[in-house]
Amino acid sequence: METEILDSASVVATRYWHKLDDGRVQCDVCPRYCKLHEGQRGLCFVRGNHKGQIVLTTYGRSSGYCVDPIEKKPLNHFLPGTPILSFGTAGCNLACKFCQNWDISKSRELDTLMDQASPETIARAARDLDCRSVAYTYNDPVIFLEYAIDVARACRKLGIKSVAVTAGYMCEEPRREFYQYMDAANVDLKAFTEEFYWKVTGAHLQPVLDTLKYLKHETKVWLELTTLLIPGLNDSEKEIEEMTQWVVENLGPDVPMHFTAFHPDWKMRDIPATPVATLIRSRKIAMKNGVRYAYTGNVHNEEGDSTYCHHCGAKLIGRDWYNMTAWNLDAEGKCKACGTACAGVFEDRPGDWGARRLPVRLANFAA
Ligand code: SF4
Repeated sequence: METEILDSASVVATRYWHKLDDGRVQCDVCPRYCKLHEGQRGLCFVRGNHKGQIVLTTYGRSSGYCVDPIEKKPLNHFLPGTPILSFGTAGCNLACKFCQNWDISKSRELDTLMDQASPETIARAARDLDCRSVAYTYNDPVIFLEYAIDVARACRKLGIKSVAVTAGYMCEEPRREFYQYMDAANVDLKAFTEEFYWKVTGAHLQPVLDTLKYLKHETKVWLELTTLLIPGLNDSEKEIEEMTQWVVENLGPDVPMHFTAFHPDWKMRDIPATPVATLIRSRKIAMKNGVRYAYTGNVHNEEGDSTYCHHCGAKLIGRDWYNMTAWNLDAEGKCKACGTACAGVFEDRPGDWGARRLPVRLANFAA
């Protein structure tokens, strides 16, 4: 379906909403189900009731573009070593007190959206910059669904893959449409208690678990998980035990898990940074429970950055932060030592982008 432009180029009609008997309109994109009077915006701030329908107000606008290593998303098993063109918009449908991108996600000023680009321009830029994929990141693509889908369709025409970096807080119908166009996803599993989800993010756990099961069992999207461990809130051994057992039982052993370090930010400045020992312990718990690929993140730990063969233990992909230090997969993505396949999407050789970060002005790629 073509995106319908309304009053201005950045305001477009959306598909998932319905009218309520009391005259309000309900957005059905995420389980917040915002019920909005004329002129009101939803919690995400970028969708609102405009003339009796829910519109997206940030179509084609971005908070900036950057070429990153794909490992930074983080994805360690999807085209390793390749560059990915990353962008986000503004707003978010969660309200995480620990947000590390709060200037974007909690922006109420659309002047953070400096860059404008059509889906075709983004796809062309990705191709011309030799990026294999585009990442919908910095804030959650769920809330700019229509734009993300149009970008992904334009990318697919040029052979560029799409990667969603998301909290997975999404309703069933839009989820089904959105993931038709995605090739990989890193989903934040922010904790494993309803209490944390409700008190700290203002969302619920179960819809996220539903998204994970959907992705693993009903799509071909490559899936990895990230949990930001916050001291005292979601880092107990018990919680990591339960979370990783759930992952193996419900998603299988091949979904990589990333345990990343919290740094004091946004509304949580009184909590210290996550000790490296907590990340290492969580990684070990995950592997003990059968997760084949578990990582530490946001800290320097070569062992926790690297990928190992789950069968013979050989180091398959060595990493030092985002620099690749070893590659021991054959052309079919199998361990060179024992021939066991490593789960993921690999090519006959890795990319060589390294740790570079390259800010990009999309205006230079307009037709
Ligand atoms: S996408 Fe935005 S407007 Fe829609 S229900 Fe979620 S928070 Fe509310």
